[in-house]
Amino acid sequence: MNRRKALLSLGSVLATPGLSVEAHAADNTDVLPIEKFQPRSMLHANETKVERAVYPVIDIHTHITHAGGLDGPGQIRFAASGEDCLRVMDRKNIRTMVNLTGGYGENLQQAIDKLQLAHAGRFLVFTEPAWSKAADSDYARVQADLIEDAHRRGAKGLKVLKTLGLYLRENVTTGKLIRIDDRRFDSMWDAAGSLGMPVAIHSSDPEAFFLPVDRFNERWEELHAHPDWSFHGKDFPTNHELQEARRNVMRRHPRTQFICLHVADSEDLPYVAECLDNHPNMHVEMAARIGELGRQPRAAYQFIDKYQDRVLFGTDAIPGGVDTPQQVFNDRLYEIYYRFLETKDEYFDYAPADVPPQGRWKIYGLGLPKPILKKIYSENAARLLGISA
Ligand SMILES: [Zn+2]
Repeated sequence: MNRRKALLSLGSVLATPGLSVEAHAADNTDVLPIEKFQPRSMLHANETKVERAVYPVIDIHTHITHAGGLDGPGQIRFAASGEDCLRVMDRKNIRTMVNLTGGYGENLQQAIDKLQLAHAGRFLVFTEPAWSKAADSDYARVQADLIEDAHRRGAKGLKVLKTLGLYLRENVTTGKLIRIDDRRFDSMWDAAGSLGMPVAIHSSDPEAFFLPVDRFNERWEELHAHPDWSFHGKDFPTNHELQEARRNVMRRHPRTQFICLHVADSEDLPYVAECLDNHPNMHVEMAARIGELGRQPRAAYQFIDKYQDRVLFGTDAIPGGVDTPQQVFNDRLYEIYYRFLETKDEYFDYAPADVPPQGRWKIYGLGLPKPILKKIYSENAARLLGISA
């Protein structure tokens, strides 16, 4: 029996006194594979449909293009055309999508031409580091020059994937992992800062991704669906080491603005608050983490209220991304985000999926006041991007 088929026997759970297990069994069996378990909530809870955000939205975290990785830039791929995206955007009151993964050089130019220039005001494009050059002796200078080149082409910011810290190695794909605070990137962070380009940075991942994939792991199903997301064992740093390395970067480059994606560390809001208190150049966005914020709605509300000038709206949306329901670019995804932020609805799904894809829990709406919504939906992002609110 492989692990995916390992069964969570519901027999013992259902064996209430006086009733046989068989009396409750689904599909004439007393064992129900966990992947088939799709309980329907019997709560008669309020369901508010929020078709459009109350204010126009800037989605700071989307992936319309993919422009290569460790093995070089390759050919840029468009997951959707600007026109396709605009149909959803207009229905959902999305003013601007920020396409973070624009690559660099000629790839970046294509992304800017087809999105940012073809549909002025509706799309913005970020550049990415040239990871495949990171082992070159002149990398620091080359990378700083590439940031300047990206700025000249019109890139609005720099995106750093979790590649840095978890994949990039001394010989790019082999050797020791390169630390997030490695000095070779100093000139890159400085170049972005002096050009007014915010850095959208994703470091680390949910804490469960660093733990054994066993019955105690609350993301057992997610990690079984995506085994390569596990960073348990081998030579990976811990979540905390990654967080602290990123913090060193923010500390050393105070004039560079950082947008820590996925709430920086959505499971440890006290830690994130402490970082925000100490690093005025730090901001956070919420993409793919409303599942975490929404299962701790009181703490999340307090956090967002306190840091309301430094929290940004983002979804991590990928057009056509069926693999990860919490990131599929469609109407339902945005309706869930809006419901979470704008209503006080209780116990609802954080992703458009039959089974919660990131863990078997539900979320509670925050019902944020309108002035805070306005800041999160666009004002905070507009300020960082240097565009009108
Ligand atoms: Zn992303």
